[in-house]
Amino acid sequence: MDRFARQINAVQRRTETLNQSLAEPSVLQPGLLVQAFNQLHDALEELRVTHNELLNQKEQLANCYQSAELERQRYRNLFDFAPDAYLITDRDGHIIDANRAAANLFQLQIHSLNVWANRSLIDFLPQHQHHAFHHQLQRLPSEQTLKDWEVIFCKQNGQTFPATISVNTVKNLDDEIHFHWLIRDISARKQAEEAQAIKSENLQLQETVRLKSQFMAMMSHELRTPMHIILGFAQLLLRQPYQLLAPQLKNMVERIYNNAKHLLTLIEDILDFTALESGKLSLNSQQFNLAELIQTVTQELQHLAERKKLSLLIEVQLQNPSIIGDSDRVRQILVNLLDNAIKFTEKGSVILEVYEASENRIAIVVRDTGIGISKNDIQFIFQEFRQVNQTYSRTHGGTGLGLAIVDKLVKLMLGTITVESQLGEGSTFKVELPRGVKSAEC
Ligand code: ADP
Repeated sequence: MDRFARQINAVQRRTETLNQSLAEPSVLQPGLLVQAFNQLHDALEELRVTHNELLNQKEQLANCYQSAELERQRYRNLFDFAPDAYLITDRDGHIIDANRAAANLFQLQIHSLNVWANRSLIDFLPQHQHHAFHHQLQRLPSEQTLKDWEVIFCKQNGQTFPATISVNTVKNLDDEIHFHWLIRDISARKQAEEAQAIKSENLQLQETVRLKSQFMAMMSHELRTPMHIILGFAQLLLRQPYQLLAPQLKNMVERIYNNAKHLLTLIEDILDFTALESGKLSLNSQQFNLAELIQTVTQELQHLAERKKLSLLIEVQLQNPSIIGDSDRVRQILVNLLDNAIKFTEKGSVILEVYEASENRIAIVVRDTGIGISKNDIQFIFQEFRQVNQTYSRTHGGTGLGLAIVDKLVKLMLGTITVESQLGEGSTFKVELPRGVKSAEC
């Protein structure tokens, strides 16, 4: 450009000299005029060459501009369509530019103009993070970069999500500091991490439950053997001719026997429960007469009802009382339900109804006029060790395992159990069992 300007100046000077020569005819000599024209011609020739050069340069410049523009467009597209959210802010966090992914991330309408106008990145952070964000902004110019800072962001609709932030500090042409932000939504990763944590917690829990069941089963076995021995000897002592045992001694042996029996029942319950819980209880199914079983069970429990002056009523309506199942386990269900009904009833009656619910199902219903169970408590009574009426249970004993065992046994037999109850008015437990229950492990 300088050269071109110099050349124009030179031509201008020569033209002026020529002009002056022409204006002063005294100076004008034919030889001088020719020389001046020759010089002018040379200067114009040079000018023409330079002009051509200039045109060439202009073309090159246009090409450069075009490829720079293409490159700029390419980077703009890369920026705009990048899968991660990119934002550019000034050193105060005001948003200067952002890509589509950023708009999507915060649920902003990408088509609306000025979507980022007057917005700061801090607007998308919940209040409790503002302080930390300001702190980071202040440190950034000296630290230059920030990597994978975990924060919680708010979308336009108020919904929050976890994200990581990485930042680079850059200076623009005017030497101003700008920050380039890369924001990544890590909800999916967090969810996967949580799921993994829950999974390993579950595994740990399962292992704990397994160890607990193993321990309980082992302990129960260890306890059962001596209990049987205590019971056996107590029974032997009680069978002695009356006069051989002093009345006080007899009373003591009876107490040993009764308490040992109670303890054995508890141990049996724990054993059954752990076996059911770990899926190790198998049914021993055979054909048996349900009506006969009911008679035996109710006879055995009659004295409990009599002691509380309750009437124990039985209504069996079975055309065919012969069913296939594990009679010991059906008996266990009956004993538990009737025992509870008597235990939790102070006056009135306990009624056992057995009938054919359908062609293949038998219904066993135990009704009482006892304390009842509140609506809220009903959901808990089948859970192990749950005693919803603590005061009552404390005076009347029990472990809170009975109904849990009944529930698991009924399910093992592919039956159902339901309960209806009214506080202060009584409860009704209804069990439905298939007529034929195969021997199977649960
Ligand atoms: P428990 O050994 O305490 O009887 P269960 O598992 O048999 O344990 O029963 C759990 C709880 O359900 C009892 O503690 C009691 O609060 C409640 N429950 C069970 N049967 C009845 C009933 N017939 N009437 C009132 N409450 C009952």
